[in-house]
Amino acid sequence: MIIAVDGPSGSGKSSTARGVATRLGLRYLDTGAMYRAVTWSALEHGLDLDDVTAVAERARAVELSISTDPERGRFTADGVDVTEAIRDPRISASVSKIATNLEVRAELIRRQRELIAAAQPTGGAVVEGRDIATVVAPQAELKVLLTADQDARMARRKAELAAGSVTAEQLLDQIVRRDADDSTVSQFQVASDGAVEIDSTHLTLEEVVDVICRLAKEAEAVPSDRTS
Ligand code: C5P
Repeated sequence: MIIAVDGPSGSGKSSTARGVATRLGLRYLDTGAMYRAVTWSALEHGLDLDDVTAVAERARAVELSISTDPERGRFTADGVDVTEAIRDPRISASVSKIATNLEVRAELIRRQRELIAAAQPTGGAVVEGRDIATVVAPQAELKVLLTADQDARMARRKAELAAGSVTAEQLLDQIVRRDADDSTVSQFQVASDGAVEIDSTHLTLEEVVDVICRLAKEAEAVPSDRTS
């Protein structure tokens, strides 16, 4: 089965999607990490991110290894482990530019579909991103749109980035500006047909995971719940 988890930055979708995948014994695909890895590679090659052709060429050329293990997600780009580097504020600040390049999107969507197909023989995957239910996997058995109000999203990002020296202004920029930039990609703007919207503002991670696992069971496509 495929469970699509879409939502904006800081809505809690990474922890949620990983938690659901672990509990249901599914693979986990973080599509945002792929956009981040291409951003890393373009910067590493000294590309002008406004040069859409050069960046698209880089997206097609870069060799990405994207782990779909929900408990040990490591990512490499051209053989370099970029698992930590792609979370750097420098990448967060530039990733929307890469994500609004339509040729980059076409290439990454193609790769995402391959990774989803590869997960099918072992039961399927929880796939998180912005356009999963609308574009990447509209055939998903369960489509979740995860939201949270801006203050909650800010607080979560801050906790995630606590290790780095990120100011409140930078965080706000990453949430508000990145949303605004991301919203220029038309596929992000809709809750697709049949999507269930979950507002996680006042819910704990466990509660959100519980809700999604219950919905997955109702969708009657879950192989087994490993916790039961
Ligand atoms: O999910 P995360 O915040 O790591 O995603 C980083 C960026 O990648 C987003 O701000 C967005 O620009 C882009 N993205 C995308 N499509 C997806 C997932 C992420 O364009 N499916």
